[in-house]
Amino acid sequence: MMDQTRLMPVTRAATARTAAALAAAAGQLATLLLPHQCVLCRQFADTTGLCASCWDGLTPIAAPLCVRCGLPLGHTLAEALCAGCWTKPPPLAAIRACFHYADSARELILHYKHGDGLQLTPLLARLGARLFIELASAQALVIPVPLHRRRYFRRRYNQAAEWARHLCQYTGQGIFAPDMLIRHRPTRSQGGLSRHQRQRNIAGAFAVPPPALPRLDGRPVLMIDDVLTTGATLHEAARRLTDAGSGPVSALVLARVTRLSHA
Ligand SMILES: [Zn+2]
Ligand SMILES: [Zn+2]
Repeated sequence: MMDQTRLMPVTRAATARTAAALAAAAGQLATLLLPHQCVLCRQFADTTGLCASCWDGLTPIAAPLCVRCGLPLGHTLAEALCAGCWTKPPPLAAIRACFHYADSARELILHYKHGDGLQLTPLLARLGARLFIELASAQALVIPVPLHRRRYFRRRYNQAAEWARHLCQYTGQGIFAPDMLIRHRPTRSQGGLSRHQRQRNIAGAFAVPPPALPRLDGRPVLMIDDVLTTGATLHEAARRLTDAGSGPVSALVLARVTRLSHA
């Protein structure tokens, strides 16, 4: 006789998986039938891909900001540096972020990263285009912050690379160059770590592969990533690139952790 007690959890799990698959299929069908659905909340959206409410939930980072690292400043009377850039200039010529990491921007990024949200890439390319054009010269190498191959195989894509590729295509600026930097050492997630722990966690994680060296020689670089928290990852990557002979390194991120992120 079959052991019912052992089969029950398996049956429940299979039912849950079937329900999830049906829900996903229903969502895809709804997207086909109702193309103007908000990508976040599924309410009616215009052609931007976001409904009015989710659009309002995006808070762009606006001037005044530190001319070097892009940190929003309370006030400024002239071209200004933040206290951090006065005391210890970062290894990047400029960092800019599209949005405060809060509300809709946080949801967009989590969806993009963990929810198989590659269909968001064209929308994100449109949202990032203005700052991308400001930062990327025609000859700039556009280098996404790489994932370690183990994480890449688990996630099946690098969201920063997809965004970078679409930004180059959409604006016609820069040269997409995802093979110029690798993450050769796996690192634990930076979430929940202090600034100092993040620096130690990421130290030595990146390398420039030898075949990339001739192409890097003196060229300006624009790095692309999704979220900036303390900057430890971008700083480490920028040091590897400049040590390997690149020109000035700048960075564009979709969102930056600021005071609003904790509001
Ligand atoms: Zn919405
Ligand atoms: Zn600064």
